[in-house]
Amino acid sequence: MFDSFTTRLVVEAACLMGSLTIFSFWLKDRHTSAHLWWIAGFGLFGLGLILGSLRQHLPALLSYPVPGLLTLLGVSAFWAGLRAFDRRPFPLLALLPPAIWGLGLPLVLSSYPLRYALFNLAIGTATLLTGTDVWRQAPKGINPRTCIGFICLLETAISYTQAVALIAMQEVIGDGPLFGWLTFAPFQSAVALIALVIFGIQLISERSQQRLQRLAMSDELTNVLNRRGFFELGQQALRGQSDNAGDSSVIVFDIDRFKSINDTYGHAAGDQVIATFAKRAARLLRPDDIFGRIGGEEFALLLPGTPSDVAASVAERIRLAISEEPITGEGYTVSVTTSAGLTSAPNSHAHLDRLMATADAALYEAKRLGRNRIKSLDSLPSGLRHLTPIARVPHKA
Ligand code: GH3
Ligand code: MG
Ligand code: MG
Repeated sequence: MFDSFTTRLVVEAACLMGSLTIFSFWLKDRHTSAHLWWIAGFGLFGLGLILGSLRQHLPALLSYPVPGLLTLLGVSAFWAGLRAFDRRPFPLLALLPPAIWGLGLPLVLSSYPLRYALFNLAIGTATLLTGTDVWRQAPKGINPRTCIGFICLLETAISYTQAVALIAMQEVIGDGPLFGWLTFAPFQSAVALIALVIFGIQLISERSQQRLQRLAMSDELTNVLNRRGFFELGQQALRGQSDNAGDSSVIVFDIDRFKSINDTYGHAAGDQVIATFAKRAARLLRPDDIFGRIGGEEFALLLPGTPSDVAASVAERIRLAISEEPITGEGYTVSVTTSAGLTSAPNSHAHLDRLMATADAALYEAKRLGRNRIKSLDSLPSGLRHLTPIARVPHKA
């Protein structure tokens, strides 16, 4: 049905395409060991295949024991690469398929169909281990990981079926080559390899896209979200809140008399103060809180699903974390204070732009009242207030 020349050609083309593509990714990001595993995988897989196709012209050892081993090590390297991609350790079970081949081969050495069946058993085991592992790590829905897992498990089913067929038909097959529908499995594996290359490339592109997105949303000086990141993630978080799950709060911080810190100690010291502010505040936050630097020495904090009294205590802790310990840098120690404006709204009325505008007005009030304090304001238009009353935060002022 499919001659072995066509099959080999497809696999070799897939290996070449895969290794060159991954190599080009590696050139851009040389810290990722996953790429090296995958290049090794394609290299071993392709080399095993080329040696296998030259078996008539090679000494006995190189005719199938070594090519089979190289191919299986190639598959193990693909798995190790997927693990490294997720920063997980090398899977020791990846050595099982080459071990099946190495230990089983002496028992079936003289029979072409049994050797081929053993190889199918080993490769089916490799794809079973890889497929289940990838599947477990995959997010729900159709995505590159579920596709890779599905293809691996399909390969397992086909390889095991082929192994059974080879054992059952060993008399008819004799010294080979395979014929009729028996040639389908190797050809199908070749096509699956191409599909794996495509989904692998998608996996890498997804990761670099996420990295770019994170970079575009983070502030270089402080490593917290920048203005764009704060608004994007903030809006997302508010959309994710259920309408009857209580209130959400926003706090806007502005470092007091920052201009005079810049003027007295220099711009570099000012930068240091901004970075220290972010570090001290970030230490006090929960994983769901959204914190960003929205201007020069201005920070915003969105506390989804958090009522105003809890938000006020968070704001107070941050205010104290800044004011209670002076900031020390090269040749200077400076006492820093911050003012903050706070507002809350029931989730059904929590629009980030409005919350920010109200928190800003509250911040202005805090500055006007003498700084180093937190002021809170109701964020709802007065017409709505009677519908969803908000408890006012006990003012410091
Ligand atoms: P107030 O208490 O009213 O907030 O007084 P302030 O001096 O902090 O007033 P203002 O907010 O207007 O001053 C902010 C200053 O921050 C002005 C600007 O030169 C400085 N600034 C803005 N971005 C940066 C930055 O990235 N690094 C440093 N070092 N300074 C910055
Ligand atoms: Mg300011
Ligand atoms: Mg200021």
